[in-house]
Amino acid sequence: MEIKTPFIWKNWELRDWDDTTDHNLTHTLHYGWWVFEWIRFYDTDKWAKIFRLKEHIERFFYSASVLGLDIPYSIEEIMNACIETVAKSGVNTWYIRPIAYYGYGKMGLYPEGAKIETVISVWKWGKYLADEAIDVKISHIRRIHPMTTDIKAKITGNYVNSVMVSLEIHKEWYDEGLLLDTEWYIAEGPGENIFFIKEWQLYTPALGNLLPGITRDTIKGLYKEIFGKEVIEEKITPDKLKEFDEAFFVGTAAEVTPIGSITTEDGEKIEYSSWETGSVSNSLKTLYLDTVNGKNKSKLDWLY
Ligand code: PMP
Repeated sequence: MEIKTPFIWKNWELRDWDDTTDHNLTHTLHYGWWVFEWIRFYDTDKWAKIFRLKEHIERFFYSASVLGLDIPYSIEEIMNACIETVAKSGVNTWYIRPIAYYGYGKMGLYPEGAKIETVISVWKWGKYLADEAIDVKISHIRRIHPMTTDIKAKITGNYVNSVMVSLEIHKEWYDEGLLLDTEWYIAEGPGENIFFIKEWQLYTPALGNLLPGITRDTIKGLYKEIFGKEVIEEKITPDKLKEFDEAFFVGTAAEVTPIGSITTEDGEKIEYSSWETGSVSNSLKTLYLDTVNGKNKSKLDWLY
């Protein structure tokens, strides 16, 4: 397996990559009842640095609390375990995947008594979305409703919705999908938040029916830094899409990905100039990459 690194951290010890298997009757495997984070680390002039580790691990613990998963370590211990696993990985720019789940020992829906497993893997993953502007399609599948699950948590069960969208749009050769919520407002991508630009002003869908992404928060901060303005967070319907000049996706994996077009459910293709030199999307993409790579000296406290 090309993505392999030497060790996986599991329940306080570093194990060999191939020595971390679980039993087929692991509780989590049956009910999608576990939590995860997607974290990236980058090559900076101080070697590997993890971007916004604290916020990711805080969200990890929040997600765990939603499932009643009482991780037997502190936030600080898991942050240190991530730093140690990266240091032992021998590489300086890849992904970290912490997960926590109910293990072997219980099969009913109510998981009390099952052992809690905590695992941190570091592995190789290239670009998540294409480097150039991507073509996006609004999915026929709606975003899960916040009254049926906790949408703010990274619970694996929530991701059935995202995977269904990915399957749908890849069949049609689009690069990525865009989900509306059940009230027809734009929510987010299957693994990304979205921003729009009109006359240099940034807009993003208001919280409520989407994951409050850490990159979304980063972009709000960077926009303020270079443009001195706040992002407008509001409900956006798809018929407003034509009014925007640019659009881009953001996420830990997607970083800042300019969107070249969005095709509506009726098949209308709306094109954006997000990929052009000098566009706001491209300026923010450059500033984001400078920030994660430690070149934006005003944001060094985001690197661990
Ligand atoms: N929305 C969804 C559904 C996601 O899975 C992700 C990726 N974690 C995001 C948005 C972006 O979140 P973040 O910037 O914290 O990676």
